Amino acid sequence: MTDQENVPFVAQDIQEIGSFLKDLESHAKKWIGASRSKKTFSCKKNEFNVENSPDKLVVDSWRFQEWDYKRDDLPTYARGLFTYHTKDNRPEIATRGYDKFFNTEEVEATKWSNIEQYTKGPYELSLKENGCIIFISGLSDDSLLVCSKHSTGPREDSNLSHAIAGERWVDRQLKAVGKTRQDLSRELRKRNATAVAELCDDDFEEHILAYRGDSAGLYLHGININIPEFTTYSGLQVQQFANDWGFKRTDFLVLDEITKVRSFLEGVAETGSYNGRDVEGFVIRCKSNFRSREYQDWFFKYKFEEPYLMFRQWRECTKMMINGKPPLFKKHVKITEEYLLFARKKLAENPKLARDYNSNHGIIELRDDFLKEKNLKGSDLLRLEYSNEGEAPQDATKNIILVPIATIGCGKTTIAIALQHLFGWGHVQNDNIQGKGRPPRFTKEVMSQLEDKPVVIADRNNAQKHERKQLIGDVHHQYISSARLVALNFVHDFNSIEKIKQVTMGRVFARGDNHQTIQAASDKSKVMGIMQGFINRFEPLRLDQDPDHGFDSVIDLDPISDSRQNLETVIARLSELYPKLFTTMPTSEDLDDAIAFALNEYKPELKHDVSGRGPKVKTNQQPKQQKPIVPAAPKKKALEYIAVDIPTQQILDALEKTFSTQDDAKAAFFRQLQETRRVQPKFHVTLIHRASARQQPEVWNKYKALFEVHGDEEKPLGDCQVQLERVVWSHRIMAIVVRLVTEGWECVNTVPHITVGTRADDVKPKESNDLLQQWLQDGSGEQTGIFEAVIQGVTVDGTVHAVLQKH
Ligand code: GDP
Ligand code: MG
Repeated sequence: MTDQENVPFVAQDIQEIGSFLKDLESHAKKWIGASRSKKTFSCKKNEFNVENSPDKLVVDSWRFQEWDYKRDDLPTYARGLFTYHTKDNRPEIATRGYDKFFNTEEVEATKWSNIEQYTKGPYELSLKENGCIIFISGLSDDSLLVCSKHSTGPREDSNLSHAIAGERWVDRQLKAVGKTRQDLSRELRKRNATAVAELCDDDFEEHILAYRGDSAGLYLHGININIPEFTTYSGLQVQQFANDWGFKRTDFLVLDEITKVRSFLEGVAETGSYNGRDVEGFVIRCKSNFRSREYQDWFFKYKFEEPYLMFRQWRECTKMMINGKPPLFKKHVKITEEYLLFARKKLAENPKLARDYNSNHGIIELRDDFLKEKNLKGSDLLRLEYSNEGEAPQDATKNIILVPIATIGCGKTTIAIALQHLFGWGHVQNDNIQGKGRPPRFTKEVMSQLEDKPVVIADRNNAQKHERKQLIGDVHHQYISSARLVALNFVHDFNSIEKIKQVTMGRVFARGDNHQTIQAASDKSKVMGIMQGFINRFEPLRLDQDPDHGFDSVIDLDPISDSRQNLETVIARLSELYPKLFTTMPTSEDLDDAIAFALNEYKPELKHDVSGRGPKVKTNQQPKQQKPIVPAAPKKKALEYIAVDIPTQQILDALEKTFSTQDDAKAAFFRQLQETRRVQPKFHVTLIHRASARQQPEVWNKYKALFEVHGDEEKPLGDCQVQLERVVWSHRIMAIVVRLVTEGWECVNTVPHITVGTRADDVKPKESNDLLQQWLQDGSGEQTGIFEAVIQGVTVDGTVHAVLQKH
């Protein structure tokens, strides 16, 4: 049954659209001096040429600040809005997205009591989508306009834009149903409508659910009328259109009464899964007369939140326990511990329970038994817990640390400077920390700024888990701080790595001429090498694992998006997570200004905080007075070699331990070295010596660039864990064969090693290479004159240093 005949239709009124556009224009104007008022909203206009448009039409995209959608004076609440003028200069809305919709309890209108009072069914429920939104509409010259939320056409760089990816799918599906772009354009224009679809295609962009092969494509989920007010088709009408035009269909669950909707949602929340998979939440479509006399189309969302997220954590932890793994959890610590104690007891009493639990039976029962024993409901429980453990997240006004997870050029520093400019927040740049022991000093500086700033940005790549572990661990254990750690997760999807490289390298090189050291084209390959190294070592955020489960919240950012967009995302998400953190929200111009300030007035250095451990804290309390930080000019003295320095005592201990278990004959050469004071006073693993620069120019140049940016000999280039594997020696020389555990540190020697000592000055340490070459070929034993002994399980923390020529 379809009611295709009865689809909503409203024509555009030229007068109304004309004044609508004037209104938008007046709020998009650049502010002049005092005339700017925080009391009004602001919007941003971007122009795009329409591709393949016979009339060479130009469309304008309009966007509001996310948080302005909570105001009640916007001329439209459309998220995604494009307008244009026809060839004969009529103003029109080209594309209209849905009205912005909110979570339950997030705004007045979505308080359950208001939903119950002011809305009417049918209620159409669909799963919260997780692809990217695509709008399709028809223009006056019959060209078909395909847009993503705020743009259309190709990207400036050569990467595939969402809009173009969507367009390709449109072409594919039209071909399949034997229709043309022009047909679709005319049809949509006739209906004065925008088709709204989700682009789900893993080959383009990977999302949480798998969309490959047949399941990839455009899932049509709505058709909106192109007028400022929100008017949209019913689910059935949308599905009908999808069938006719070759879209994939979106499923809706239809319920008539709000009480049923609520109990359905809360039921799903109980288990956290629907149709056998974990879901984030639902979008509910209905009609509401909360704001108007007439009922209007109106959407809201229902996201699974506390206490259900806590219950989900309990479920996961219980399973970990059953499967003999230590349960990892971060939130609601006290109550979760109590629950687990209870669960452990119950599981021990009844082995069948564990088996059932693993196949998802008895989960709720076990939980309810616990709650019953405590005589509590989930909601009481959270309240109780917050009073024990401090404030609820939504009440936080300070003590927040933003922790980027990124690679070079993602815009960490740009966003940090912009946030500092807007809100006066703290900012610690790892790149500004010099000398030994950078990681603890980095944390120390973050914690010290946190004493008088509500939010501090811990500006470091944190690309590897060990860096995150260090920061999270130090904050919680060393400082025993209740600080909240929020990850700024620059998502590095496997499929977008090439794009990310292009964009980040492009950004870094775009400014090349402003750099003292990075100008010449020859520097390019070195810097690229360093950047590549970070990308290679990048370990994506895994919230279900140690150490990332230690983050309180995550804000996903796209390294390919410009920093202006990411800045807005950070602020919008933070204001959702911690509404009390903000008093007034910045306007769109404020954000533009802040980004302009960060990009122009502040000149970030090219940062190479290799492995994130290493260089000086300079606090950036007063951004306006910040000196541009520019890498030091290359030293006159040339580089001799690059090495991983190893703590002396650990090597001596390992040798002593190894030889104490060998017979005297085998230990003889080591004892000889000791007695003649021929054991080196310091130990290192040479990564590359200048003697190899000619044979290995790439590696040499990479390290040289790294050194030049870091500037001096004192400053470590980074950290490298080294595993000691075995001692190998002849009657001339002794070396330890090692393995470089930390990835990314290239060693040009066939066998990475530490020279322990030589019998006299006539034997040079570099002879270790010959020794190990021969050992590889001939092995050890009396007949070869080479001996070896295994070192048991010793891994040491080394620091990578540059060593300069003496003369
Ligand atoms: P970080 O390595 O993550 O700290 O990245 P930065 O914030 O230093 O950004 C790297 C370079 O890209 C700098 O030269 C920035 O000025 C520049 N940059 C940052 N964001 C943008 C952006 O949105 N657009 C452009 N064109 N350049 C940007
Ligand atoms: Mg930086």
